[in-house]
Amino acid sequence: AQPSVLVVGGGFAGASCARALKQLDRDLAVTLIEPEADYLACPFSNAVLAGLRGIEAQTFRYDRFSDVRLIRRRAVAVDAERRRVRLDDGTDIGYVRLVLAPGVDLRFDALPGYDEAAAEIMPHAWKAGAQTLLLRDQLTAMPDGGVVILSAPANPFRCPPGPYERASLIAHYLKTSKPRSKLIILDAKDAFSKQRLFEAAWLELYPGLIEWVPLSSGGRVTEVDPATRTLVTEFGSHKAAIANVIPPQRAGKIAQSAGVADQTGWCPIDPVTFESRLQPSIHVIGDAAIGGAMPKSAFSANAQAKACAAAVAALVRERQPVPPKLINTCYSLVAPGYGISIAGVYQPRAGLLAEVEGAGGTSPLEAPPSVRELEAAYAQDWFRTITNEVFG
Ligand code: FAD
Repeated sequence: AQPSVLVVGGGFAGASCARALKQLDRDLAVTLIEPEADYLACPFSNAVLAGLRGIEAQTFRYDRFSDVRLIRRRAVAVDAERRRVRLDDGTDIGYVRLVLAPGVDLRFDALPGYDEAAAEIMPHAWKAGAQTLLLRDQLTAMPDGGVVILSAPANPFRCPPGPYERASLIAHYLKTSKPRSKLIILDAKDAFSKQRLFEAAWLELYPGLIEWVPLSSGGRVTEVDPATRTLVTEFGSHKAAIANVIPPQRAGKIAQSAGVADQTGWCPIDPVTFESRLQPSIHVIGDAAIGGAMPKSAFSANAQAKACAAAVAALVRERQPVPPKLINTCYSLVAPGYGISIAGVYQPRAGLLAEVEGAGGTSPLEAPPSVRELEAAYAQDWFRTITNEVFG
């Protein structure tokens, strides 16, 4: 019989992995388990918030997965010993190797006052779709002069530069449509990704509009009250016209129930094969995995997916997996036609995915507008290329 590989989760990680497995070995039986009919991509969803793009540009379907068996169900349990996955309709499926790629769950138990009901008033918009539209509509409805507050979590979380790209694009919207308004970032950190580039751009494009409050100045939000849209910090409380609360996160629930997540909530993996450190024959890729310096991005998820597929294709044929080299690049838009980026190269070292010294870097701090414009165009090209590779 054909060796059967199951992939749970059809995001940038899982969908990429299922396709790569089939390309590497046509004789593998590859099944992708994903309950949603559409995939809503987060990259560029901040542009939707700012009214620069429609949600349809973020929406992808699974109708071109003809050589992968697609099951439109949610995986609810994994029996690692018997190597079976149970689906939400009660059926169960066996595997030789299982790849889990469920992305993140928002932790609704981590911030007092912030639960699923609160997220309908203070959207996180950290999963694209209804939450993105809710926050966009709140911004559209807000009177000029309102205070928008964005709260950013401590590391690690999905998309390290994402909150700051979001702050930039909301600032662009406020500057052009509601110029008496203000944006405050309450941050649980004292430093963030591409910080010098973002701060220089904010000074240039949005002087006085964005206030960043770091951890050491009382930026960490300790409690929220959705009824009054109040965010409480160690240094006092802030009342918002709009509150965008990005809460702490952890690996998607199925990773917890499969026993591949540790006490941090994330899934430790072997950096060569992405096999779980906690359960044999289960691999974890994308945002759910943690194993060193690689950030949680769609670019990383796709790179990990291909490396994991190569390892799984080797393991099921009893060949030795080859240590991978992985690349990540994260683009951020600070304004239309103004892009910045950070890139890194990663390889297994001392049991982790370690950054290769001197191989990455960020956009130059001083650069003419033409460089920022080019990077904004590269960002668009990257999104078109990756979504075409994964879903096209
Ligand atoms: P996901 O994309 O979340 O996919 C997980 C999938 O698994 C989902 O389809 C879900 O339905 C499915 N699933 C979950 N549980 C189950 C289950 N039990 N059974 C079956 N299926 C299940 N990254 C970049 O590289 N560049 C960017 O510019 C960028 N911008 C971003 C901006 C924002 C605002 C945000 C929030 C993120 C951004 N990211 C960006 C990060 C990127 O979106 C994530 O890193 C990426 O989506 C991770 O892919 P994933 O496949 O691990 O998870």
